[in-house]
Amino acid sequence: MSCPPAQIGAPFSEIDTPALIIDLDAFERNLDTMAAAASKLGVRLRPHAKTHKSPIIAAKQIARGAVGMCCQKVAEAEVLVAGGVSDVLVSNEVVGPRKLERLAGLARHARISVCVDDAIMVEQLAPAAERAGSQIEVLVEIDVGAGRCGVRPGPAAATLARQVTASRFLSFGGLQAYHGSAQHLRTPEERRAAIAGAANATAETLRVLKDAGFQCRTIGGAGTGTFELEGASGIWNELQAGSYIFMDADYAKNLADGARNASPFEHALFVLATVMSTGAGEHAVIDAGHKALSNDSGFPLVLGRPDLRYHRPSDEHGLLEFDSASSRLALGDKVTLIPGHCDPTVNLYDWYVGVRGFNTPDARVEALWPVAARGAVT
Ligand code: PLP
Ligand code: MN
Repeated sequence: MSCPPAQIGAPFSEIDTPALIIDLDAFERNLDTMAAAASKLGVRLRPHAKTHKSPIIAAKQIARGAVGMCCQKVAEAEVLVAGGVSDVLVSNEVVGPRKLERLAGLARHARISVCVDDAIMVEQLAPAAERAGSQIEVLVEIDVGAGRCGVRPGPAAATLARQVTASRFLSFGGLQAYHGSAQHLRTPEERRAAIAGAANATAETLRVLKDAGFQCRTIGGAGTGTFELEGASGIWNELQAGSYIFMDADYAKNLADGARNASPFEHALFVLATVMSTGAGEHAVIDAGHKALSNDSGFPLVLGRPDLRYHRPSDEHGLLEFDSASSRLALGDKVTLIPGHCDPTVNLYDWYVGVRGFNTPDARVEALWPVAARGAVT
């Protein structure tokens, strides 16, 4: 692990680059806003740790009322449990004997749940839990429109639930009903229509399960783009939003009726970069390319400089293009970027640099937190 790019107490100007910055004030407001929203909607919040990969941040979410964490990988769950999180849902399918053995072992130390969408997974999970002497809660995942994982809504879910309850080392916990592709639909109307479809599919499955004698403790799903819809539906009772803590340039494009500030969440994650060359004078070259920013959902924006356009990233370089009227950047100047996609950007760094008073003359480093589950992909 690399050494942190700044020391605690240092002024903002002393942070070395590229660095992953958290605006602590905005981040804390985001945490509070989501905690209050979930409480007002009357649903549980189980935030997604795939965004932050940090037990320190998980603890802040749990302190504000979250019931536990979600993650996508067994390795992330291991880091969360080692860091003190006692209730983790792997909101994903886990396949292969080695992973199942680790998951079952982890369930000796924390409350662990996992998603399944195939009888073969249940066949392998049950003996793994038996060997570990542990108990694992299972959510049956249904495909509510994203076209990724999940069985078809309806009777297939009851078949899997029956298979789960046949093992005394497994318990049936309910449904995973996450509509991933709805999160980034650009208009509220599109998102509303997608979640209305997901709600019908989930309600139909709940009816089938009830007729078959199954109770669902958990009906989980939702992300930052749609959580208000699932939360108000009367169907879902556990929200799994992740990106709300940081927001990214892509989520900022989810506009309500073209209103710029439609989201209740603020950008709180940034990449600080330095101008390392001015080339032949046509542009600025910064030290943040593909290894400092994930560009899969679009390029970053430059904070406070809408006249600068990021483009042509290579491994270690990014170009900033000027408008004709722009004030030019000089060698050594620093720029603050709003990443296009927060989750994979976080996974590129060893450290979060938490800044208090971000974007003020008094901005200082208050916290250095490891991205503890960075690279935890198994
Ligand atoms: N739940 C599941 C199962 C996910 O895969 C994701 C993200 O991909 C989320 C919740 C969180 O979504 P977001 O980061 O958009 O809030
Ligand atoms: Mn994401």
